[in-house]
Amino acid sequence: SRAAAAAGESAASAGRPLAAVTGAEIQAPLIQGGQVRYANLDYGASAPALSVVSAYLNEILPFYASVHRGAGYASQLSTSVYENARNIVRDFVGGRPDDSVIFTRNTTDSLNLLAGCLPHTDGRLAGDVLYLDIEHHANLLPWQGVPHRSVVAAPTIAGTVEALRAELQEGRVSLLAVTGASNVTGEILPIGVLADLAHQYGARIVVDAAQLAPHRRIDISTDNVDYLAFSGHKLYAPFGSGVLIGRSDWLDAGTPHLAGGGAVREAKLDGVSWATGPARHEGGSPNVLGAATLARATQVIASLDQDRWHAHEAAIRSFLVEGLQKIDGITVHQIFSDTDPGTDTIGVVNFSVAGYDAGLVAAYLSAEHGVGLRDGRFCAHPLLKRLGLPSGSLRASFGVGSRLEDAERLLAGLEQLRRAGL
Ligand code: PLP
Repeated sequence: SRAAAAAGESAASAGRPLAAVTGAEIQAPLIQGGQVRYANLDYGASAPALSVVSAYLNEILPFYASVHRGAGYASQLSTSVYENARNIVRDFVGGRPDDSVIFTRNTTDSLNLLAGCLPHTDGRLAGDVLYLDIEHHANLLPWQGVPHRSVVAAPTIAGTVEALRAELQEGRVSLLAVTGASNVTGEILPIGVLADLAHQYGARIVVDAAQLAPHRRIDISTDNVDYLAFSGHKLYAPFGSGVLIGRSDWLDAGTPHLAGGGAVREAKLDGVSWATGPARHEGGSPNVLGAATLARATQVIASLDQDRWHAHEAAIRSFLVEGLQKIDGITVHQIFSDTDPGTDTIGVVNFSVAGYDAGLVAAYLSAEHGVGLRDGRFCAHPLLKRLGLPSGSLRASFGVGSRLEDAERLLAGLEQLRRAGL
């Protein structure tokens, strides 16, 4: 098949970054006196900016001006770049024509915004927010201020869907808040199935796509997802920008996220008529460059050959997982059992080294091998505790600029650590 052919081709070419075959270039910095190519295995925290995106930034920077507020050329140009960015982002995730596309600072900001827009009946919040215990804090903590319930994810995806169904059947859930892919283990959740499930019980769904969007095409119309949040800095764009996209009725009736200039139709000293649409939540001068570079990055990602893209990351992932499993004392962690046929994964691998503090391993790999990865509890304390990792673990994550060589360097560093018994 085409996918199998692409997988074979990509396994052979995973030694090169995906850019070599697609044009999605990333400049890899040299470190340690210019001797060593930095092995960036921390894409899950922030992905390096695409070269195309950096070039685009330089192109628009001289014309940077405040949007919606001036008649001058630069202001008009910035306004059109900013508003056009909304349409590009809408297309990127298959948004419906009447969805609101709101630019925010990041995923955290987007989910906090939505928490202020939950529906009310008779002056009270109409229902609870329901979420799994595997969520990143960005999709846990915004719901602490509203009625909420949580469900412990089952050992399989199918079991988890049933556990959510049981809770939804109890009634009074207005929103199911779920991650598209775990930032801890990379496992993907079936968002289309979960959207249907939520709707069956009269709830809506928000998907935290901070990790999913940089690895898989998403179509919220096809999957019937009501709200989607993601961050530019994890999607190969450099600046503090994020998005919340989704059904406008809740957003237009919700509490304005940033009260200020631009968010009102009319302000009087004794009352305000708030705007509807994105303006309601985007008070103050917006991050035009952030929105524009995010949109530019989505265009590059959208242009990737999906089979090649997925095969490239999958080849690096399986090489890394197999290598880790061969090293004495290393355990690879996951939420769902590997017999679960529904479990697909993005370019994230979580592991620990028996007898070694995760922070010290990460520091050693950085100092001695030029490998950058993340250690700690990944802003997912409940999950780490349940996985039996209360003091944290290690996470290697990668994407379009990664090479097999990065994973090789990590494995060589870990083997040396174990051999030397440092
Ligand atoms: N959700 C997930 C799954 C994440 O991995 C992250 C960041 O690591 C976030 C939300 C928060 O993203 P941001 O820090 O850009 O708001």
